[in-house]
Amino acid sequence: MKPAPFAYHRPSTVDEAASMLAATEGKILAGGQSLIPIMSMRLAAPAALVDLNHVTGLADIDVSDTAVRIGALTRHGDLERNVAAYDANPLLRRAVQHVAHATIRNRGTTVGSLVHADPAAEMPAVLRLLGGSVEVVSTARGRRSIDAEAFFVGPLESALEPDEVAVSACFPHPPAGSGSAWLEIARRHGDYGLVGVGALVVLDSNSSLASAAVCLISVGATPVLVDVTAACRGAAYDAVDWEDGVALVDAVIDPEGDIHATADYRRHLSRVLTERVLVRATDDAVARRAA
Ligand SMILES: Cc1cc2nc3c(=O)[nH]c(=O)nc-3n(C[C@H](O)[C@H](O)[C@H](O)COP(=O)(O)OP(=O)(O)OC[C@H]3O[C@@H](n4cnc5c(N)ncnc54)[C@H](O)[C@@H]3O)c2cc1C
Repeated sequence: MKPAPFAYHRPSTVDEAASMLAATEGKILAGGQSLIPIMSMRLAAPAALVDLNHVTGLADIDVSDTAVRIGALTRHGDLERNVAAYDANPLLRRAVQHVAHATIRNRGTTVGSLVHADPAAEMPAVLRLLGGSVEVVSTARGRRSIDAEAFFVGPLESALEPDEVAVSACFPHPPAGSGSAWLEIARRHGDYGLVGVGALVVLDSNSSLASAAVCLISVGATPVLVDVTAACRGAAYDAVDWEDGVALVDAVIDPEGDIHATADYRRHLSRVLTERVLVRATDDAVARRAA
């Protein structure tokens, strides 16, 4: 199928994009990897597209002492290949390399994925796990920053107002002594994960567990963040029994069945992947400390 007719606008600055968005009640076009298929299937028919791709200064990846900040035109593939971002925060690459196929990652943007807020998408979960934020601009209200906790409102629904342009996302560096990991199961390479889990584990100076958290995709309306610290705090890194942590996750997830997997199977995957990813993140913390 073909999209319904729409007007096309090509701004060259963020302010221009924001005023076009407000005037047309259209949609921002970033990588088009989600929006164009939806329009082609006539599941959305925006009156206008405001193409962000000719706005300069939005493709940068800035690695500071505290965070990795990416612009709205940073492609998933740019983030995946950025060595400074990987060195500062390996979880970014570990998760983004599970997003679709290389061709889609070369065009799709990470900020676009955050705004799209698919509960099966990896990078919203990473933003949640790291406590990041998204910076947005509108003509009516200027600039504001939205914390990850408030950003993901429901399936395919973020806290962005219709007249707001997301200009960047900020992923804070994980704390000293931490390790991270991402694991997921998909039916085929490049598919959305049936379940995916990211973990962030922090060791104290005695190599005991100081904190641990996981964030799961495809088991709720938004990424599901679970702090499992209470189940492991103080345990030696090589003697942690993750069973209680897995039980905490089991108590809060609400997976649904669909043509790809039953709800029970998603629950089973959540349990297995949670334990594995916590073990892997702990190993990562130990390895990073030794390096
Ligand atoms: C076959 C296939 C498989 C995929 N598999 C995965 C997967 O496994 N995991 C995954 O996470 N994603 C997957 N995707 C989606 C992909 O990651 C997209 O890149 C992403 O969802 C959206 O990014 P985009 O830049 O393409 O956004 P677009 O498609 O251009 O836009 C998506 C939505 O976000 C809005 N938007 C985008 N950028 C902005 C902005 N800066 N400000 C305001 N609004 C904005 C648009 O208006 C639109 O509503 C897949 C896509 C395809 C086609």
